Amino acid sequence: MDEAERMRSENRRFVFLLVCWWVACFATVAKAAEFLVISDIHFDPFTTLTQPTFKVLADAPASRWPELLKTYNQTLGATGNDSNYLLMVSAISAAKAHTPKPLFILYPGDFLAHQWQERYEKVAGKSIADDPAAYRQFTMRAIEVVTNEIRKQFPDVPVLATLGNDDSFCGDYWIQPDGMFLHQFADHWQPMLGSTIDADAFGQSFRSLGAYRAELPGLAADRLLVLNSVYWSGSYCSSYFDPKDQNCCQCHNPGTKPGHALMDWLTSELELARKQQKRVWFLMHVPPGLDSYIEEKDSGHSLAAEMWQPEFMQRYLKLIDEYRDVLHISFTGHTHMDDFRIDRLDGKPVLLHKIAPAVSPIFGNNPGFQTFQIDPQTSVISNWKTYSLNLADQQKYKLWKLEYEARTTYQLESLNAQSAEQLFRFMHAHPDSTFASAFRQHYNMGASVISPKDLSVYLCTILNATYPLFATCLQNHGLAQPKLAEEPAQVRRHAGGMIAK
Ligand SMILES: [Zn+2]
Repeated sequence: MDEAERMRSENRRFVFLLVCWWVACFATVAKAAEFLVISDIHFDPFTTLTQPTFKVLADAPASRWPELLKTYNQTLGATGNDSNYLLMVSAISAAKAHTPKPLFILYPGDFLAHQWQERYEKVAGKSIADDPAAYRQFTMRAIEVVTNEIRKQFPDVPVLATLGNDDSFCGDYWIQPDGMFLHQFADHWQPMLGSTIDADAFGQSFRSLGAYRAELPGLAADRLLVLNSVYWSGSYCSSYFDPKDQNCCQCHNPGTKPGHALMDWLTSELELARKQQKRVWFLMHVPPGLDSYIEEKDSGHSLAAEMWQPEFMQRYLKLIDEYRDVLHISFTGHTHMDDFRIDRLDGKPVLLHKIAPAVSPIFGNNPGFQTFQIDPQTSVISNWKTYSLNLADQQKYKLWKLEYEARTTYQLESLNAQSAEQLFRFMHAHPDSTFASAFRQHYNMGASVISPKDLSVYLCTILNATYPLFATCLQNHGLAQPKLAEEPAQVRRHAGGMIAK
């Protein structure tokens, strides 16, 4: 090899190494820009407890609960139940394995198991009214156990959480504004938020309404508004969930006042975000739009509900119309499925609500969580990955697997209201497409497949936020109109056979 050839070879080697470094470097950056969404754990410490073991647990500090619960839980449970300790740990560990360094974690609500108060009284052997302080202590310890597990796996990652309808001292759908639960949860959760919040502003808005503003780590132009949408639910403080003489926590029905106060708060926050040129994300538990669970499950005896009270829905739609220039995306929980809702105005998509799959398998789904890949400069969400656990196979129960990756499955280049609308409209027009069959397959994380004839019900639910529009959509697809439930909890309580429990 002569000198010139040697130089050329060296140069080629140098260029090759440079390209390798460049690729490796960018691959690392791209990998680092991820966030995790994990939701609806519904931690259930009651399963397998007896009155004597309950007493041991109730007397122990939260730090001792793991060793005790490990002896009480032998399996990860089964669909139709909430998450026991082992399932919760399995989910959070799997999330760590698949997203070791997320920018942040979003938790769209529901820390506590369904029917918390009833189940507590049953296993405690005494009523909440008999010893309200013991009940509150037990409830906050259960939340502390969930928090400790998240912190163990993600010691330095801000965890941006909202409350779900089951997170309350008073009862389901009963978060007392300025009440004891909000006050205690605020003190407990504040360290999980790190420097994403202004402590004074957080203390004030969370204690009064369960809402707060947070800056999103790694995304300088973006801001998260955490909304307590339980106040907008059609089941908020309904007689259905009347705590009666429980008397644990000064629970009384404040009517629609907190819902309107939250709307006022949201209005001023959107104005502030516009002034400060921030892109706004929402985090809430109950998404707006329809819950059509029974329509989907029981064709012929169908029941659907608007999840928010109409007066809040109207105010909300006006608000997002006015501030559509600052809105980016919304993350929610509540239905437990890998689902979507699209707010549309004048027939055009405005805001996408990405509904998170639940860890709790109570509604017949497999447990799941999702990671989202994002470009920190533009905030474009380029992909997401859904991970799931096949609960039916207890032999391999520790094997959480990649359920699907959106980039390859749906060929989306970015996740937003427009791209999601296009995707679901395409499925409407092409129910035999691979996209439609993937949606049917993954909706409940592979636990069962949506039948082809029911697909339109799901698509009409995603694309229509009010009952009249939803009913017209069904009619256009030759499907019968479902009955409108008086309140949304009626529909939810049918889901997964909860009424029979
Ligand atoms: Zn839930």
